[in-house]
Amino acid sequence: PTDAFGRPLISNTGQAYLDPKLPVRSRVQDLLSRMTLEEKVGQMTQAERGAVSDDPSLVTAWRLGSVLSGGGSVPTPNTPQAWADMVDRFQAAALQTRLQIPLVYGVDSVHGHGNLLGATVFPHNIGLGSTRDPRLVERIEHVVAEETRATGPQWAFAPCVCVARDTRWGRTYESFAEDPELVTRFASAIEGFQGTRLTDADRVLATAKHYAGDGDTEFDTAAGDYTIDQGVTITNRHDFARIDLAPYQAAVRRHDTGTVMPSFSSVDWTEDGIGNPIKMHANRELITDELKGKLGFDGFVISDWEGIHQIPGDWPTQVRTGVNAGTDMFMEPFSALQFETTLLDEVRAGRVSQARIDDAVRRILAKKFELGLFEKPYTDRTHLAEVGSADHRALAREAVAKSQVLLKNTDGLLPLRKDAKVYVAGRNADDMGNQAGGWTLSWQGASGQHRLPGNTILDGIQQVAPGAQVTYSKDGSAPTAGSDVAVVVVGETPYAEGFGDVGGPEWAFDPEDGGVPREAKSLDLQAVDQAVIDKVCGAIAKCVVLVVSGRPQVIPPAQLSTIDALVASWLPGSQGEGVADVLFGQRPFTGKLSHTWPRSADQEPINIGDRGYDPLYRFGWGLRTTVSR
Ligand code: BGC
Repeated sequence: PTDAFGRPLISNTGQAYLDPKLPVRSRVQDLLSRMTLEEKVGQMTQAERGAVSDDPSLVTAWRLGSVLSGGGSVPTPNTPQAWADMVDRFQAAALQTRLQIPLVYGVDSVHGHGNLLGATVFPHNIGLGSTRDPRLVERIEHVVAEETRATGPQWAFAPCVCVARDTRWGRTYESFAEDPELVTRFASAIEGFQGTRLTDADRVLATAKHYAGDGDTEFDTAAGDYTIDQGVTITNRHDFARIDLAPYQAAVRRHDTGTVMPSFSSVDWTEDGIGNPIKMHANRELITDELKGKLGFDGFVISDWEGIHQIPGDWPTQVRTGVNAGTDMFMEPFSALQFETTLLDEVRAGRVSQARIDDAVRRILAKKFELGLFEKPYTDRTHLAEVGSADHRALAREAVAKSQVLLKNTDGLLPLRKDAKVYVAGRNADDMGNQAGGWTLSWQGASGQHRLPGNTILDGIQQVAPGAQVTYSKDGSAPTAGSDVAVVVVGETPYAEGFGDVGGPEWAFDPEDGGVPREAKSLDLQAVDQAVIDKVCGAIAKCVVLVVSGRPQVIPPAQLSTIDALVASWLPGSQGEGVADVLFGQRPFTGKLSHTWPRSADQEPINIGDRGYDPLYRFGWGLRTTVSR
């Protein structure tokens, strides 16, 4: 049978697994009993959209359990409609398989459905952590889930519940806080994604990632080792449980996360003797015994991108070790078929047990039944018009305002008067790509390239204070004549992951910084930013500096002394009005630092509770203002 659009429908000829009245458990058991080994291995395999988009029949041929869009892997045109059509095309191919098992489609959605042009882009987690408001984040993730599922994908690889302990880590902005207790409170984000019923058209499966210790790896400057992104957590079992595992306890037991993604990093137990790092993807003790055993996780484990291929050894060893460690589905973006063939060989040779395969497939199928995919395999487009809606953007604006941390406010300079003569400068004042950061339209972000729907901070200032006389000069070269106050917006240009040897030159170099390799970037404010602060703050009596960045930036004393008001704006996303709201007293400043702000990069790693803790601004710091009438 086909539907009105000619797409295949699931034909129920009395099979128990197609009976929605039966409990999920029975449906899974019935389906599993009908499956061949090849079909089971297919369910355990996830391919990249790019590997099958030219020929969706490969989804059928390879019996794929899942497809993903990695960062920037988008349909043309990149519209909500085209996304839904694309996902449905893959789904139609999945339904051509013998047992008609629907696929589940995954995207990152780490701060909104960031791959989609026109999605509401929320602040990255570092800013959300500064709001200290997990309820707000649940509301946000509900909206993110709605925008994601309305356009096809039923699965978000989010939230990251990493505890970033060294802000030189290239993924610090994905971390809600350096404090495990605070991150644990934000694990409730999972409920925002999943709600209470995954069948709802505005909910998606969530992923707690990256299990575990991703933000707690060592950074060996002396050895010139910048591999902190995918490095080694050197620890003992007690500290690992307290710092790195804590959020997963909540994610699994309290919030019932549907999936968990292992980390690219390794763990090295100091108590067992340093020098034996085990890749998380190979870590049976942590994935099978701890996560599935002790914590009682009953969802499925999805590998990270080619994650098993960092395990030492040849392909068969990597596949065998990865499966036996306990990962259930494998993100094998461009090597899905090779993965399947290898795994089949390993099972046939008796090196991977049938029981392990059945356990993996049972877990995956259970989530597909819970998502209602066997009843409604195609995209429910009811909420399509909500993507990027005014309501969603209003919520993002509220979050932006609440995420702003006022670090310094000499003589109560902020909030500004709405009729002030304001001189706006700096490369992050009017750049949507820079203020959205990584995981926006492309993996490494969209610096200067795109004008995403939304408002820059400059747009926001003009909207919130229409009576202000605004002069804008990116590099501060326009005359400053008559301005009462300067607002200089500096900080970072986008990046994602990295700060390690994981990619090629196409993303490792930042044209805006004159082609400086990203891994060579430090926490120090870039020279171009120091220069604009010197120029503008030197010429105008009152000076506000907003730092738009994915982590604290080290501000040299020479610049700091010329700054009257300093704000950590983090990576606010598409609604720059939220920044303007607090600048002009439309809303109060209430944000508090979620990560310690160091005096210098060599203070890192520096975290609350450290001996001799003496940062520029401590964890939890944040001045308040009142609303101006
Ligand atoms: C990242 C994951 C992400 C995956 C898929 C990997 O490189 O580490 O966080 O979910 O890509 O985009």
